[in-house]
Amino acid sequence: MKSTIICIVCPVSCPVDVEWTKEDGVLGIKNHLCKLAGPYVESELFDPRRLLTTSIPVDSGDWPLVSVKSDPPIPKNMMLEAMDEITGVRVKAPIKVGDVLMTDILGTGCDIVATRNVKKV
Ligand code: SF4
Repeated sequence: MKSTIICIVCPVSCPVDVEWTKEDGVLGIKNHLCKLAGPYVESELFDPRRLLTTSIPVDSGDWPLVSVKSDPPIPKNMMLEAMDEITGVRVKAPIKVGDVLMTDILGTGCDIVATRNVKKV
């Protein structure tokens, strides 16, 4: 099969031409400017993932919400289910950047981590 996949690893956005099969994986790529296209195209074809970003309510904090992200990115087809899992969760201040607020969400091996500090008040 032949496909063109836009590499989104950096802002250049190379339109990478890919030859692949389900059985043998990626056979070759063209039209890319660097080696980062290979792993990206492989993942996009066989295990597409996305960074989930949202926020979670905080009790007793100097901010009412803490921004969070998935670490690492979660399977693309589980984004909505993961959002459902996060909805309703509340956390307590203090929170530091990098704190793991939820572990192994939906058995994906991905954690939900804080991306800002929230002080206790
Ligand atoms: S192939 Fe390299 S240069 Fe092109 S978009 Fe991907 S990361 Fe950027």
